[in-house]
This record gives sequence, C-alpha cells and structure tokens, in this order.
Amino acid sequence: MPRLILVLGDQLTPDVAALQAARPGDVVVMAEVMAEGTYVPHHPQKIALILSAMRHFAEELRAAGWQVAYSRLEDDANTQGIVGELIRRAAEVGAREVIATAPGDWRLREALEDCPVPVTMLPDDRFLCSEAEFGAWAEGRKQLRMEFFYREMRRKTGLMMEGDKPAGGQWNFDHDNRKPAKADLFRPRPPRFAPDAVTEEVLALVEARFPSHFGAVRPFGWGVTRGDALAALDHFARHSLPSFGDEQDAMLAGDPTLSHALISPYLNLGLLSPMEVCQRVEAEWRAGRVPINAAEGFIRQIIGWREFVRGIWALEGPGYMGRNALGHKRALPAVYWGAKTRMACMGHAVGQTRDMAYAHHIQRLMVTGNFALLAGVDPAHVHEWYLSVYVDAFEWVEAPNTIGMSQFADGGVVGSKPYVSSGAYIDRMSDYCGTCHYRVKEKAGERACPFNLLYWHFLIRHRERFANNPRMAQMYRTWDRMEEGHRSRVLAGAEDFLARLEAGEAV
Ligand SMILES: Cc1cc2nc3c(=O)[nH]c(=O)nc-3n(C[C@H](O)[C@H](O)[C@H](O)COP(=O)(O)OP(=O)(O)OC[C@H]3O[C@@H](n4cnc5c(N)ncnc54)[C@H](O)[C@@H]3O)c2cc1C
Ligand code: SF4
Repeated sequence: MPRLILVLGDQLTPDVAALQAARPGDVVVMAEVMAEGTYVPHHPQKIALILSAMRHFAEELRAAGWQVAYSRLEDDANTQGIVGELIRRAAEVGAREVIATAPGDWRLREALEDCPVPVTMLPDDRFLCSEAEFGAWAEGRKQLRMEFFYREMRRKTGLMMEGDKPAGGQWNFDHDNRKPAKADLFRPRPPRFAPDAVTEEVLALVEARFPSHFGAVRPFGWGVTRGDALAALDHFARHSLPSFGDEQDAMLAGDPTLSHALISPYLNLGLLSPMEVCQRVEAEWRAGRVPINAAEGFIRQIIGWREFVRGIWALEGPGYMGRNALGHKRALPAVYWGAKTRMACMGHAVGQTRDMAYAHHIQRLMVTGNFALLAGVDPAHVHEWYLSVYVDAFEWVEAPNTIGMSQFADGGVVGSKPYVSSGAYIDRMSDYCGTCHYRVKEKAGERACPFNLLYWHFLIRHRERFANNPRMAQMYRTWDRMEEGHRSRVLAGAEDFLARLEAGEAV
C-alpha cells in the first residue's frame, strides 16, 4: 500500500527527511492552498516565490522518477487546506499513512497531529543543531546566550577554526562591523532573475487571488530554483561579501540592499543548505579574497543566530507567539501598512518592504522594530506584520527575532536587554535623517525626532523592570541628571506624539 510523502513549500530539498524515508510506490503530495496563503496576509512576492519554487521543485522530482500528486491553487477539487488535501489524496491512492518532515510552524504541526490520516513527523535535519541537541545545550543554563552557543557550533562544524582555536585568535570580530556607509553607484547590486513562464503564470495567479495583500507583486526578481539560489550565493560571495562586515549595520535611502546577501529565502525554503553557504564563505576568506571580519560576521549569522533562534522557537513551544512581557497593547499603527509618514526612516523601511518584500536586519531591528517597541505596540500584532511582509518569514525564524530579539516580549530569553535607541543611532548608521521632517538633534519640542521622545518614555514606563539591568543603569543615571523642566517636556512630547499616532494622524 502506498504512503503519502508530504513536502511543504519550505521543504524544497531533495533529501529532506520525508523524501529520504520514502519507499518505491509512495506518492509525494505537494499542495498550494488558500489557507496557507491567507492565515496572515503574506506579501504577494512571498506567495509567488513559494508557489513558483514549489512548481519547479515538483517538476524536478518528477524528472527524477517520483510520483507527485500536485494540487494547484486554481484546481477545482482543491480543498484549500493541507489536511484536506492529505485526506483527499489518501482516498485517491488508497494510502493510510502520511510521512512528513516536521513543519517550522506550530500551527501546522498541531494540524498534522490532528489529521485523520495518521502522520509520522520526522525531525527536520536541515539544521546544523537538532531540536534535541539544542534542548540538551540549554538544559540547566540560567541564561541562553547566542555567543556561547555560537562557539559550540564553531567547534562542532570546524568552520573558521585553527585546531581548537578560532581563526584569527578571536571568536567574534563584530567591533569592526559597525560602520556607516556612503552612497556608491558602483556597489554591486544583488542579481535579479527574470521570471520564466512558470513564474509568470504564478504572478498572474497571485495578482488575481490575493489582490488586497500589502505589497507589490511586480517587479519580481527572486530566484525560484536551486540553480538560481546557487547563482545568488555565488554572486554574493564574489561581489558583496568583501564589504559585508563593514556595511552590515548601515542603512542608505538609495540603496536598500547594500552588501547583504539576500539569500535568506533560499535558505529557508531549502534551496540552499546552511553548511554549503558557510563553506563557500570560509573558502573565500581562506583564499585571501575577503577580510576575516566579513567571513566571521557572516558565518556567525548562519551557524550562530539562525540556528540559535530556531532552537529557541523549538524549546519555547507554541505559547511563545503570545508572549507579552512588557504588557504592550497598542494596535499596529497604519504607517506599517504604508500610510503616509513624516518619519523618513520609517517611510524608507516600510516603502522598500512594500516594493521588495525585503529589508535588512538593522532596518527590521532598529527602525520598524525599535519604533514598535518604543511606541508600546502589542507584540502579537508586530509578529503578524513581520510574518506577513517579508519574503523569508517563517514562524521558526521570524517569531524569535520579533517576539524575542526585537520586542523583548519573551522577557529576556533571546536578548539580555531590549534593542531600543534614540534617533542618534539611526542618524549615525544611515542617511535618512537629512531629509526628514523631524530633527534628529532636537530632544524636545514639536520637531524633535519621535525616537528621541519615545526612547525616554519607554525607559521611564519600564523603569522598575530595567533600572537594575547593569547594561541599562547608566541611561537611568543620565535621565536623573537632566533638568526637571526638560524631562517634563520630553515626556509630554512623547504623550502628545502617541496620542496623535493613536488618533491615526500622519506622524
Ligand atoms: C524583527 C525581525 C524579524 C526577522 N524576521 C526574519 C524572518 O522572518 N526570516 C529570516 O530569515 N530572518 C529574519 N530576521 C533576521 C534577518 O533580518 C534576516 O535573516 C536578514 O535580513 C535576511 O536578509 P539577507 O539574506 O540579506 O541577510 P544577511 O544580512 O546577508 O545575513 C546572511 C544570513 O544570515 C542569516 N541571519 C542573519 N541574521 C539572522 C537572524 N537574526 N536570525 C536568523 N537568521 C539570520 C540569514 O539566513 C541571512 O540570509 C528578522 C530580524 C528581525 C530583527
Ligand atoms: S529624524 Fe528621527 S524620525 Fe527622522 S529619519 Fe531620523 S531617526 Fe527617523
């Protein structure tokens, strides 16, 4: 009797666990369903990328001899849900069992557990650290800190190691990676991939089926096959990696991608593996073509942060997405959905998100994330936004970054202090402030940068929680030394700004 082998849209890896476990005669099930496209309003480019990559992958499987039962979104018989499609296909082929690779989304894991056709869920072994291994590492530790986890992963993988010592004598070269950037017409641009006939068909489908989702579907330039993903990696390694470290934290209005890799969607869909990406980067450094701060900084993002947040997501379980340690209640302001704003930094970060379904890490963390945290937005709303609007967003990676790193809603599981800053940080790292309605140097008054006002408002609102945090105590001492009249003006300015935000005014 055949079994069904479920391959989800972010499991497009030929040796993904479920495919490895398949026997001759088993039927691969792949399904495009409205339920997955709409449980949050995903960006049209994200939906198009996943559907086109699925269609290409299914063809590759067929060419390799697999029998694939593929449900297209527009098929009349499509039940438009993953479980519904498993039930339908099981009846069609006479299967009584499903083999799946565990999804990176608790909602789907629970749905598969409740599926009337019994599902065997195999661990997703496309990570360098398994869920069980991370659990064992975390066991008994008072605090989970990425830096220590990262060192373990360096030892385990042998990446950038000289014997049992880190290459270059240090684990981390981050102090070299905090430079601003200058506009440069000759900075290499990430490659764009012209849509083929399959992608064109998908783009038209997405335009027709998801017309109200935030974001432009065209121009669409994402790669949709492993070949494209490898070309994107190669382009990054040859052209942008040398300056990746130096420009990692910088932001420029006219250059939304700088020296970033734009490979997260390919990694997260399974078109690239974390180890091959790191090996390529290490090889560039060993060949003397890139500086150590660039190679180490990049590898830390992959075997450090990426694996660490995945471990946290697995460890913390389904309740994690509902955490709200700071009790924030505000609805997500309309500026996140493209409403007019006078804040240049927010306008740029949201604008490029709408156009490209992409923003780099510092834009996500220190502009849109920082603003939501300072303004006290409900972290569940913030999580839903990030999960919707980015082409690389899947719960296992998005939620710990948003709920944990960016919003401190987990109370300090991911980070030891909240990532908050005044406008000075954005001014130092970007060229946004020069064209802004607000004045970044003004600390109070009508034209004062909202980040300057809200920064203190946030710290004072949460004084009890953070005053004794050794990494934040200095800020409270600075506040206490300020003149009383100035402090009142700052807090009143922040209150006024929040009232206008709440009233839906263009801030
Ligand atoms: C609020 C918030 C939400 C985020 N949501 C996502 C998400 O849904 N999906 C996602 O893949 N990343 C997410 N990130 C992490 C990071 O912003 C993206 O991985 C990165 O911007 C992807 O672009 P890139 O490929 O050009 O990355 P680069 O800057 O070139 O970095 C290289 C790679 O490192 C990995 N990486 C870097 N930082 C992280 C991180 N903090 N966590 C996990 N991997 C990391 C990514 O795979 C990335 O491709 C989020 C960060 C924040 C602050
Ligand atoms: S002045 Fe403030 S609001 Fe304007 S761009 Fe700078 S940081 Fe953003």
